[in-house]
This record gives sequence, structure tokens and C-alpha cells, in this order.
Amino acid sequence: MDDFNFKKSLGQNFLKDKNIVSKIVDTVNFEGNSLVIEIGPGAGSLTEKLLEKANFALIYEIDTRLKETLDDRLDNFNNYELIFDDFLKRNVKEDLKKYEYDNLYVVANLPYYITTPIITKFIEENVDVKEMVIMVQKEVADRLSAKVGFREYGQLTVFLNYFFDVQKVFNVSKNAFVPKPRVDSAVVRMTRKDNREYVKDLTFFSKLVKDSFRFKRKTIKNNLINYDLDKINEVLSKYGFDINTRSECLPYIAFVDMANSLIE
Ligand code: SAM
Repeated sequence: MDDFNFKKSLGQNFLKDKNIVSKIVDTVNFEGNSLVIEIGPGAGSLTEKLLEKANFALIYEIDTRLKETLDDRLDNFNNYELIFDDFLKRNVKEDLKKYEYDNLYVVANLPYYITTPIITKFIEENVDVKEMVIMVQKEVADRLSAKVGFREYGQLTVFLNYFFDVQKVFNVSKNAFVPKPRVDSAVVRMTRKDNREYVKDLTFFSKLVKDSFRFKRKTIKNNLINYDLDKINEVLSKYGFDINTRSECLPYIAFVDMANSLIE
């Protein structure tokens, strides 16, 4: 890889620290017949370790220049399929159809320029992922795992909290990568919530959450001016709040309740 021309536009910062690679793989709670999706294997350092632990891996890499390196590196394994394509353009459910497995995992050192689209793709396309262990920019990790009341708690936090228990597992210094990125990173584990509260209309829930956080410092009353504020006030009072509360102070369950109450 010495003469490899890393593309910044593809978020190509490869992990060179073997301990971090092992720590990421050890963070995954593999159970049963496991299928893992990896997005962006790069030169394959994480992939290699994943193939030792998981029953099968479905791997997506956009950069065809990595084909030879990956073929060589993964030569000892036959429990994977490597697809050279833009992950965001794939029909993942279709790709998964030919495989049998008990539990689906996503493990990746993500290309940071598309972190949120990748995470939300799984949710929006209703792909049933048991656990995601992903490396993201440290500030993004803080947002994803933020607790209610904190500055980092936002639209994405609430939306993800509905589907997953989200936990920041460890920080990773920029020195663990080649080339060295500008920012530090962190590994986040997201575990599927098996007993989710019922949401009548997910699209509406998602829109309500988005609108609630439109202007960060404003109250629910100001952000949701076009909604039925009396109804919202009634719901919020159950949680000890009212429409003069700011969204970052509300637990995700209050948003679920609001969304369900606003839809007949
Ligand atoms: N997993 C490797 C590691 O940890 O060393 C590389 C991680 S690097 C941060 C991100 C990888 O994602 C790169 O290999 C890049 O080419 C790939 N990538 C970027 N955009 C992609 C996309 N849309 N679909 C699939 N792979 C992508």
C-alpha cells in the first residue's frame, strides 16, 4: 500500500493500529449464524479479523483500485462476497436475499463524509440489523450517544434512540490512521431494541423530530408552530413538561407519544 494514492474525497483513512482493529471486532457480540456487512474495507485490515469471527461477510467497497490488495489479503477465506459499488446505491435487502443467517451485523470504519446517510439507509430500508459497531468522527459519536439534556442531543439522537440502544465504546486517536485525519474518532455500538414502542407512522415521527430541532435554541412552541400545540401541550404535561420546553430536554419517548397523538 506504500504507493497507494489515498483519496480524501472517499474518506480514505485506513487503520494501521492492529490493537484498535482487534478492539473493534471484540466489541461485536456475535451470536448464532452471523452475517456481517462491512462498508469500505479499504486494504482489508478490519475485514480479515471479521472473517475470523463471523460466519459470513458481505463487503461493499467503492474504489476498484483496492481489488488486487483485497483479493490477496483475503485469499485464505471463502466466507465473503465483495461487491465493488457505492453502498448508498445498493438495494441491501435484495443483496441479502441469497443468504441464510440468524443475526445481521454492521461493522465498519465508515467513510465520514456519508456517516449519517449510511446509518439512516438501514433504518429507512427496514434492514433488520441486530447490532452496528461503527467508527465515526468523535463529535458524531458524541451526538449519536448523547443523553437527554446535553448540548449534543439532537434530531439524529432521538431518531436513533427509538431503534437502538446507542453507546460510545472508546475513543480512537487520529494517530491510529494512515493518512492521519484532522479529527479524532470513536467507536459506537448500536444494539437493536427488541421491544420498541409502537409508532403509527414512522415518516411522520421522523418529520416531527426534525421539525422539533429546526432551531436549536428555540422552544417546542416556536419550532412546532404549524402543529396542534394544544395536543402537544397535553402530551408533554404527562412527562412534566410543556410547549415552552426546548427539544433537547425531552426524552425520545415524548416524541413518540407526540407523533402518535397528532395522527388520528
Ligand atoms: N476499513 C478500512 C480500515 O479501517 O482501514 C478503510 C476505512 S476508510 C475510513 C473508508 C473506506 O470506505 C475506504 O476504503 C473508501 O474507499 C470506502 N468508501 C467510501 N465511500 C464509499 C461508498 N459510498 N461505498 C462503499 N465504500 C466506500
